[in-house]
Amino acid sequence: MKIISINAGSSSLKFTLFEMDNEEVIASGVFERIGIEGSKYTIKYNGEKIEQEIELLDHTDAVKVLLEKLIDLAIIKSLDEIKGVGHRLVHGKDKYSKSVIITDEVIEDLEAFREFAPLHNPANVLGIKAFREALGEDTLMVGVFDTAFHQTMEKEAYLYPVPYKWYENYGVRKYGFHGTSHRFMALSMKEILGRENFKMISCHIGNGGSICAIDNMKCIDTSMGFTPLAGIMMGTRSGDVDPSIIPYVMEKEGKNASEVVDDLNKVSGLLGLSECSSDMRDILSNIEQGNEQALLAKKKYVRRVVDYIAQYYVLLGGVDAICFTAGVGENSVPVRKEICESLACLGVKIDLELNEKRGEFVKLSTDESKILVYVIPTDEELMIARDTLNLIQNR
Ligand code: ADP
Repeated sequence: MKIISINAGSSSLKFTLFEMDNEEVIASGVFERIGIEGSKYTIKYNGEKIEQEIELLDHTDAVKVLLEKLIDLAIIKSLDEIKGVGHRLVHGKDKYSKSVIITDEVIEDLEAFREFAPLHNPANVLGIKAFREALGEDTLMVGVFDTAFHQTMEKEAYLYPVPYKWYENYGVRKYGFHGTSHRFMALSMKEILGRENFKMISCHIGNGGSICAIDNMKCIDTSMGFTPLAGIMMGTRSGDVDPSIIPYVMEKEGKNASEVVDDLNKVSGLLGLSECSSDMRDILSNIEQGNEQALLAKKKYVRRVVDYIAQYYVLLGGVDAICFTAGVGENSVPVRKEICESLACLGVKIDLELNEKRGEFVKLSTDESKILVYVIPTDEELMIARDTLNLIQNR
């Protein structure tokens, strides 16, 4: 059975087509600059890569071209072969704690929650509507929310110590993100350990990043908050800072609040501190050339990850495993090494030779380590496809 996973952004649409009988990727790709001059698509299949510039006025156009290409390239014979479409949805607030079949109500909710994810939710709706138009209402579509996995947090984890009515009246609370990736980590660890009753800390560290404390397959706490700006230091996001900085900088720079928050989102983090790049690869090569600010940025980055791991270690009362994933977590050898060295006091010990591996599943911890440490490449697209299949089969 073939299922397609979709991640629709405001001007892009990524897809992965799976044969779910063996969970194999048949084709994948991205449509970029939708509605902007210079739009193009890239499709990978059978070891080939096709790239073409083509006018794409909107998401409906992109989906039309995608489906035509799947047939033209003989990736599928007919559209009937696609039995379900799984959509990555960003914000389901506290209403959605698991993946759901997309109905009109889900679309209305995505629209109603748009002020919580102003860039993502409207884009997600565009993606859903484009597929509905192309495949008709009968093709089953499933929504997989980034926020869903975190809905098991207790009130004392998700509430901020602010006036309670901000929560009651305006929904001010921690929602958490990257839930699909953290759930994938928990399921992978379940497979490794052969049981569900374990405690782990999942570190999704990429351009965006979040840490999640998991007990018995449930999220206990996570570092992102009301928005993805909270938590650890990221590529361009500051993570947690003292909010009093905002009015202070507003006055100094003659900016309004959203402009300063924009600075915290877009020109802070690795980029802000290093003043050279938001990409850890550039940071590392700049360090090799003796760039002190790049070194400072990496040290702060490692420290913020370690801060959260330490916090969650205590919250969980010890952990069985720590896992690393996403761009930095899967690939950055020195960052993993330094994080793990900082955790030596908890009994973490990793094999430095195995830590040289990049982008692949590897057990880093040695036999003497008190905590298991793994690198697990995340696969959010597969999780979306699995959830879609599951909901189709159990309808
Ligand atoms: P996103 O959060 O946008 O999905 P990714 O998970 O793809 O981001 O992570 C992107 C980041 O991963 C890059 O900005 C870079 O810092 C880091 N990264 C990717 N490959 C490497 C590598 N080989 N070495 C170090 N860092 C890497």
